[in-house]
Amino acid sequence: METRSTCPYCGVGCGVIIEHDATQITGVRGDPDHPANFGRLCTKGGTLHLGMTPQVMAQRLMHPQLRSDKTAARKRVSWDAALDHAAEKFARAISEHGPDSVAFYISGQLLTEDYYVFNKLAKGLIGTNNVDTNSRLCMSSAVAGYKATLGADAPPCSYEDIDHADCLLIAGSNTAWAHPVLFRRIEDARAARPEMKLIVVDPRRTDTAEAADLHLAILPGTDIALYNAMLHVLLWEDLADLDYVRAHTEGFDALKALVRDYTPALAADICGVKAEDIVTAARWFGQAPAALSLYCQGLNQSSHGTDNNAAIIHLHLATGKIGKPGCGPFSLTGQPNAMGGREVGGLANLLSAHRDLANPEHRAEVARLWGVADVPAKPGFTAVELFEAVHRGEIKALWIACTNPAQSLPDLTRVHEALAKCPFVVLQEVSADTDTAAHADLLLPAAGWGEKEGTVTNSERRISRVHAAVPAPGEARADWRIVVDFAHRLESRLSQYGDTLFPYANTEDIFNEHRATTVGRDLDIGGLSYALLEQSGPQQWPLRAGAVFGTPRLYAGGVFPTASGRARFTSTQHQPLAEATDPRHPLHLNTGRLRDQWHGMSRTGVVSRLHAHAPEPAIEMHPRDMERRGIVDGDLVRLKGKRGSLLLRAAASNTLRPAQTYVPMHWGGQFMSGLGVNALTLPVTDPVSRQPELKHAAVQVEKFTVGWQLVAMRRDDEGGLHAALHPWLARFDHATLTLAGRDSTVVVLRAWGGEGSPVPSPDMLAELAAATGLDAPHMLAFNDTRCGIAKRALIEGDRLAGALLCNETRATDWLLDLIARGGSTADLRKWLFAPLATPPAAGPARGRIVCNCFDVSESEIRAELAAGLDLAALQEKRKCGSNCGSCLPELRRMAAQ
Ligand code: SF4
Repeated sequence: METRSTCPYCGVGCGVIIEHDATQITGVRGDPDHPANFGRLCTKGGTLHLGMTPQVMAQRLMHPQLRSDKTAARKRVSWDAALDHAAEKFARAISEHGPDSVAFYISGQLLTEDYYVFNKLAKGLIGTNNVDTNSRLCMSSAVAGYKATLGADAPPCSYEDIDHADCLLIAGSNTAWAHPVLFRRIEDARAARPEMKLIVVDPRRTDTAEAADLHLAILPGTDIALYNAMLHVLLWEDLADLDYVRAHTEGFDALKALVRDYTPALAADICGVKAEDIVTAARWFGQAPAALSLYCQGLNQSSHGTDNNAAIIHLHLATGKIGKPGCGPFSLTGQPNAMGGREVGGLANLLSAHRDLANPEHRAEVARLWGVADVPAKPGFTAVELFEAVHRGEIKALWIACTNPAQSLPDLTRVHEALAKCPFVVLQEVSADTDTAAHADLLLPAAGWGEKEGTVTNSERRISRVHAAVPAPGEARADWRIVVDFAHRLESRLSQYGDTLFPYANTEDIFNEHRATTVGRDLDIGGLSYALLEQSGPQQWPLRAGAVFGTPRLYAGGVFPTASGRARFTSTQHQPLAEATDPRHPLHLNTGRLRDQWHGMSRTGVVSRLHAHAPEPAIEMHPRDMERRGIVDGDLVRLKGKRGSLLLRAAASNTLRPAQTYVPMHWGGQFMSGLGVNALTLPVTDPVSRQPELKHAAVQVEKFTVGWQLVAMRRDDEGGLHAALHPWLARFDHATLTLAGRDSTVVVLRAWGGEGSPVPSPDMLAELAAATGLDAPHMLAFNDTRCGIAKRALIEGDRLAGALLCNETRATDWLLDLIARGGSTADLRKWLFAPLATPPAAGPARGRIVCNCFDVSESEIRAELAAGLDLAALQEKRKCGSNCGSCLPELRRMAAQ
């Protein structure tokens, strides 16, 4: 059987076809009819069905669980008991401390209908605006930038504009990794029109930057100076469209006076790039008949993210390159439904259908639509503020849904402190194993991908239907259903409105109410229905009553949703970084994404093959910075910031400038010791958008001298071993807990002790062997207590099933390959019983897997290229890059090298 739905990862919003037998999901492929992807999927979307394996189901939350106090273990309870308890706690907090003593922290991964009922619950029923979302961490500067300049939170472009652009400016986005299917479209457009210019602005030479005609590797936080200087050149060289400016904008003269000072020479000095490159970028942008900009977290996650966004939008307004095919400022959303959340007003300062909380008429409209007396005027706490309020003790009951703030917020030590002391924390989640789950007093099992009904909106304002293919496992329920069931209980306790505010039997009822709130607004979907989505496919808003299809492009007539109908130029001045480097913290830390992982890895992290491209947590450093500190590639290093520290493996990288470092955002406390990179990031936020500066912190890196090391590897056919070994992460100076393997899952625990720290005792090794199932009677074991060397190997049938190594870990790659892929164990005994024997030559380690679809490793690709194959011949022989294409940019880079 087949069911159409969407991918739950990035904001490209690809359509998928789920293959299933009505009880189990068996496969997934791209939907050829979905306009976001036309059948394509990336490595993440293409492995969605693997999220239903025993390993994954073992970490699913199946039943509500409640603990009586912070020190007690959680126990399984019925849904009725769980929701009654939650309603009692919330009602008591509201009656004793007021509505603002409770809060909801939700997620851009919820569906629009889920989001809608959460928002109504907080603002309509309870009477608090304390509802914010993890979209605050990724999109709120884009929202604020659009509203400041264009008057509404509406990306004006479509993906099809990529096909028409003559100049494409990608800023603060590694599109090749973060939005891979969109990058395939960019590659196609460039192949069809080689004259198209690609400019990439990014401090790192990412795979996206590698593909550019011009890469501007600006210093962190200098975006505004660059775009102001580009505007300076556009004006100086008469490339602005002053007729458009006069007819359709306001505030230009003030900005013109401001950018007079931003000469290319000045900006070159601030940004650390060549002045002539700034001039070239401005000329390409200004001379192109159609120029499109794509941007993402590099602009948004900044203490001046709103101005970063405005500065790039100014280029479009000054040249009239907006509202036309191939033109416009196009913010890419990181999450699958960050847009839908914004549409229903699911943020602490917004109201339904892009209404403003600060506007009394808007509040009155929403109150009327909902049938409540009023909507409170006082803005709620935004994400970072919310957890500060929790820390201060102002929030007595906190409901978290579908997100992991204990990993994703900045300054994590303080967030963990806040969660630990919050009197009542509810977590509504799919996974039982997230860093936030440890703090939950009540865990509520939510339905996941393939199990839910509703709608989502992608980056190009396109609304798609999400369909359930199989029932949720255990007692898991749809998110909207959990909220409505809770709301009914709270209604009866607060007894303000009776049982009237949440009369929904299904998601379509919720969608229809949401639709009614949009009529007359910029995102009017008065003409949209579930039936139309089924019949005509995904549609872009607005789609007003009477319309048959959505709207691909906004502002074609040059009229903007501002009071005057004109777009606005704002004053964007270069601002220093919120945290400057200093002699004790001389390096810049940048954070971002990996190609094959998603957010906190609660879903991608349980699919073993998605670990293959980046198998271990690492910090990328410039070789010169490593040499200066006596660090070589692969060493363990301590990354120290002003708020925390982290141990990581160092990886030399020429994609960074000296003094820059890079750590992926994904690795958290489920996969390594410590809290993850956000232990070091700043809680400083943009003054308008309140988005935190997650892209930059000042740090130092020091070599960590290893005293001993240990590796335990075990095939995990039943699932559950990763969770069972998780407590071991806390028992060592540093440890990682990752997966390996392709068709079988291997759990890998690596641990290190510092110089002088005691070597793991025989008792501890025996305990670890028991925990990993490496204590069977027929186990091959070797111990040399004088040298502290221990080796164990377990053979099941004719295949190596697991191994444990202490202080002699040179054989790790060989053994891991044998466990994951099988192969002869003939040399095992000889190696095992000789304390310092060199591992058998099983060929070079395969290393990272570059092509996940066809399991082709970096070493294999390099060997083929060294043997004389060009890229086409390599692909012909190995098939790499010929399926999803996510690895193509990397293959091209390797071939070029
Ligand atoms: Fe999913 Fe990849 Fe498409 Fe993003 S690009 S929606 S992660 S398949």
